[in-house]
Amino acid sequence: MKSRWDEQYAQSLNNDPLALRVYTSRLLGQEPDLVLHGGGNTSVKATVDNFFGEPEAVLYVKGSGWDLATIEAPGFAPVRLSVLNKLAALEHLTDSEMVTQQRAAMLNPQAPNPSVEAILHAIIPFKFVDHTHADAVVTLTNTPQGAALVQEVYGDRVLVIPYVMPGFILARKIWEMTQGIDWSQYEGMILLNHGIFSFSDEAKTAYETMVKLVTEAEDALRAYNAIHFALGETTTTEADLLVLAQVRRQVSALKGAPMLAQLDQRPEAVGFAQLPDVAAIATRGPITPDHVIRTKLIPVVIDKQDPKGCVEAYGQAYGDYFQRNTDGTLTMLDPAPRWGVWPGQGTIAFDRSAKAAQIITDIIEHTRQAIQMGEKLGGWTALGERDLFEMEYWELEQAKLGKGGSASEFQGKVVLVTGAASGIGKACAEYFHSQGAAVVGLDLNPDTPKILQKQGLVGLVGSVTDSTAVQEAVATTVRLFGGLDILVSNAGIFPPGQTLETLDPDIWEKSLNINLLSQQALLKAAIPFLKQGIAPAIIFVASRNVLAPGPGAAAYSVAKAGLTQLARVAALELAGDGVRVNVVHPDCVYDTGIWTDEVLQARAEKYGLTVEEYKSRNLLKQPVTSLEVAKMVATLAGSVFSKTTGAQVPIDGGSDRVI
Ligand code: ZN
Repeated sequence: MKSRWDEQYAQSLNNDPLALRVYTSRLLGQEPDLVLHGGGNTSVKATVDNFFGEPEAVLYVKGSGWDLATIEAPGFAPVRLSVLNKLAALEHLTDSEMVTQQRAAMLNPQAPNPSVEAILHAIIPFKFVDHTHADAVVTLTNTPQGAALVQEVYGDRVLVIPYVMPGFILARKIWEMTQGIDWSQYEGMILLNHGIFSFSDEAKTAYETMVKLVTEAEDALRAYNAIHFALGETTTTEADLLVLAQVRRQVSALKGAPMLAQLDQRPEAVGFAQLPDVAAIATRGPITPDHVIRTKLIPVVIDKQDPKGCVEAYGQAYGDYFQRNTDGTLTMLDPAPRWGVWPGQGTIAFDRSAKAAQIITDIIEHTRQAIQMGEKLGGWTALGERDLFEMEYWELEQAKLGKGGSASEFQGKVVLVTGAASGIGKACAEYFHSQGAAVVGLDLNPDTPKILQKQGLVGLVGSVTDSTAVQEAVATTVRLFGGLDILVSNAGIFPPGQTLETLDPDIWEKSLNINLLSQQALLKAAIPFLKQGIAPAIIFVASRNVLAPGPGAAAYSVAKAGLTQLARVAALELAGDGVRVNVVHPDCVYDTGIWTDEVLQARAEKYGLTVEEYKSRNLLKQPVTSLEVAKMVATLAGSVFSKTTGAQVPIDGGSDRVI
């Protein structure tokens, strides 16, 4: 680990303590081996003028909900130092008293809640205090001889604190241990099974001491030949992906809401999952108790012979663990695992959004490494169940996850949309994503990956007429998000109008191929996964032409009519598995790629109308937008239509021929 300090940049901050604090906090936050997703906290002590112009000593300490990597000045809560020091000296202080008193002592009540470690920061008698949960340091201590290893690496240069619950209890313990001692004899402080502190009156020294101490731990791990991680590769069959979909469905059932399952099959994940003792070593506990709120204590170990049963057993064991540890006043959190080890295949992160699942994937990545290093040091040994339970059920930790609020209708659902790079397909992909779903879009357009590129929104290039590409798209959807709940079959072409007498056979064939025949391969690939989906649904985007065909549109109308008949059969065949199949018949949708100004102009002229008149050629006299169709598609796929299958819904502004 190297210092990222940039002297020139630091000079530009003119010795402003808070600006320097922001700067080195971000330097720490950029190093994932030091700080992962909200872990760690920092502070600076400064004298500032209050509202009345009187100088007051305050602790600017990281606010809850801020991440060190991206923190800004408003992310630090200014708390009166005198109050924090008084709190440290109390015999007892409950969590709610601590939160209340800290908030009451803030110079700015709009600032975020101070870190749960604010009191500890206050009693360390240096201006800059840096705290991380550095992998290397915590790994050294998560071993049978942890304390001895720390002694061997650092000697008497650091203060060593046995594990106690963070928050007031930890601050109070350190306050007791350090009465009358000379802090300047220490370079830092190691909290066993938890993390490390460094401190100095200079921002640079505090930061670089952190880097130095962690580097010493890394060097020690290297000297013990512990930095060696298994690599592996694997192949995943359709049967394997079905196991994944079943696991995800059961995890969602335990959670009581749809969860995504993000499979990690990078070489390090596969190598870890292929270790002969992976089931034993992966289930001994987390790196640092801070991770428990996101990962729970242990992962589920996937049994591919019994995907449902292994998750159910995890839930049972979680309930037992809760009963063993609750004092009777707590409410059990959901018993769903947040990660899984799939022997031979890789690791899996479970959460409600792609963003949250990615955070868990990052934590798993570090956990896999720490476990393997710990094994080389005599055996990975995490904290005991009791301590971890206290962390998991500590309300101040749960507060870090934020208030849940009401989830969007499609939160945690997985959607595949064909023809997704433009028009109605793009609107569907983006709308489902905006409503919380993880979405994969397939399209011929080579720019699709760029057009659909957000966390939880992925574009793939391929033709629906290529059955291999279609199978790959379904498999990729399951690999990325763990299953498939909603299929929107939208890809299609609108061939040029030709009467039957003049109809070009190639156009006839092409329209049938794309608009109709391709559907069979798509359904064949998707149905096994939809059957394992959560409230699964298929929506076919057909056309007003099915109900009210026009002359010269045989190639299009016949194909879409066949598609509609296919949907009706699918509704009959799949109802028994809970998969609903419905059809939308759009018309008068002009905000799509095919309706250029020139085409609109030509069409309008053909009917002797202005473009505006042409666009509102329906009973309601209004064009239909792609977004409106997307919302209709989503409504059909959602709870409002949960008791409807085999239906056809026009969205055309009203057509007297359809009515
Ligand atoms: Zn900590």
